[in-house]
Amino acid sequence: MSLLPISSPVAVRRHAIHLTKRFRPDILQMLALYAGASAAALVGPWVVGQLVEHALDHSLTPSIITELTASLILSSLGNTVLNYFARRRSYVLGERVFATLREEFLASVLRLPLITVERAGTGDLLSRTTNDVEALSRTVRFALPEWTVAIVQTLLTGVAMLIAGPLVALAALVALPLLTLSTKRYLNFAGPGYTRERIAYATLFGSISEAAEGARTIDALRLNRRQRMRVESNINETFLSEMYTLSMRLWWFPITEANFAFSVATTLLWGGWLYVHGHVSVAAATAVTLYVVQLTDPLDRVVAWLDELQVGQVALARLIGVAEVTDSRDASDESPSGERIVIEDVRYAYRKDHDVLHGVSLTIEPGERLAIVGPSGAGKSTLGRLIAGIDVPREGSITVGGVSIANLPLASIRTHVALVTQEHHLFIGSLRDNLRLADTDASDEQLIAALEAVDAREWATQLPEGLATELGTTGYTITPAQAQQIALARLVLANPHTLVLDEATAMLDPRAARHLERSLAAVLEGRTVIAIAHRLHTAHDADRVAVVINGRIAELGTHEELLLHNGEYAALWRSWRSEGSVNS
Ligand code: ATP
Repeated sequence: MSLLPISSPVAVRRHAIHLTKRFRPDILQMLALYAGASAAALVGPWVVGQLVEHALDHSLTPSIITELTASLILSSLGNTVLNYFARRRSYVLGERVFATLREEFLASVLRLPLITVERAGTGDLLSRTTNDVEALSRTVRFALPEWTVAIVQTLLTGVAMLIAGPLVALAALVALPLLTLSTKRYLNFAGPGYTRERIAYATLFGSISEAAEGARTIDALRLNRRQRMRVESNINETFLSEMYTLSMRLWWFPITEANFAFSVATTLLWGGWLYVHGHVSVAAATAVTLYVVQLTDPLDRVVAWLDELQVGQVALARLIGVAEVTDSRDASDESPSGERIVIEDVRYAYRKDHDVLHGVSLTIEPGERLAIVGPSGAGKSTLGRLIAGIDVPREGSITVGGVSIANLPLASIRTHVALVTQEHHLFIGSLRDNLRLADTDASDEQLIAALEAVDAREWATQLPEGLATELGTTGYTITPAQAQQIALARLVLANPHTLVLDEATAMLDPRAARHLERSLAAVLEGRTVIAIAHRLHTAHDADRVAVVINGRIAELGTHEELLLHNGEYAALWRSWRSEGSVNS
């Protein structure tokens, strides 16, 4: 299993800059509003400083009190109103940025080559679409806006301190070296720590969903103990990785808190000393000390949200990493002339140096029905998947109408060749949505005609709301056979000239299978059909039969020719017949 890529910190930064540029006007407006709100909040300490000053030199008059109180009320009002608009704007911006990221992520997931998803395992992708999207949403919706506010407040308070009493403000600097050092150290360890945590979640998620999906196989092969141990070891790794990040927060948070308290005390002492020795006014000493107290809150938030930002950065690296998957296909704009499929000396390996196809060559004429038979593990499904363009051969080529399938863009490949397996999916949405996946522009008449072609019109039009009936887990429940008919109707709409069938009806109960075979026969009409045959009567009815043994085509010919040849196929046929007579 090879996990999907994770973007490098440089790529994450580049992406963040790109997003910032895209939303620049909104960001600037938001910053201006926050700056206004923070500036208004700075009036308070200055007013208190003035009050103390006037009180001490006995110059406090009712008019001064009125003036100072009025400016306090006005600044509080200004702060409240500006804060309201700034927050509103920043949350809306957060939602928009998050929506953009989610859309970009979804687009790159949908572009992923199927083979990459299979190799990475669904756990990794599921964890990214759930845990990481969730983590990123917290960062973009809350952490980033809160952080921005806190940074703006910190900077402006720093400026106000310098204006009110630069000499007094010097004292606040004593906290800086320890704060910078401890934060730097924390960040050095936090990044890898959070990456490890996210990977541990993904692996745990994968092993749990695998255990649930493959429960029957695990039971049948008595792998319960092994699977439980695997899940337990993954839980253990998740626990350890969480403990690691927690322990880092445990030493870092107290250091920063102590730092804040220390700097308030130092400023008070230093300001007092400067005042007693006549270097500064009492107003300056009071205001700066109050600013340092006021600074604790935004700085605290800068520190607290930094943690969430780290998680968000890791989640973003995992989400945009999906877009870094390179397609092994090399799409060109050549369009096939004709429908002939030519397979030339194809070799393919799932694992390096372990070829499962060893030089397969075969030409399939338009309209031909070819059956591929052979023992289990011979490479039939692999060949079928290559013909359907799900992956590209390691060596050799497969062309349709003279163009390599590997060069057909993903968007158009399904209009040439489609793979039909026993798996079919019903998506949450209406019957119309489910059908239109194959052809987004299809009209209702075309959808009904496709349903008619697979003998599904009758039940489909009797659904409570016809084509608008909601299907899927939360909607109207239909039978597995009906779901498969919808999948077949999609094929009619996609209208590929060639179909590769891999056990398309094997999972269904015999009564439904017979009905479905009729629907399938209608879809096959007029198309080239490559059927991976597990029941040899399919081979009997085919124009030609290819016998695949150990990744090679051992025999090729009509059913009669191969029986006459009396080789592998004749042996398979005899054993299948005798099994059939024993079973019946
Ligand atoms: P069956 O009739 O049992 O489906 P098949 O003839 O279709 O078998 P394939 O499924 O193509 O055979 O498998 C060919 C070989 O490739 C087998 O040895 C199989 O173990 C191996 N193989 C198939 N899929 C994978 C995979 N995803 N990763 C690694 N090896 C694989």
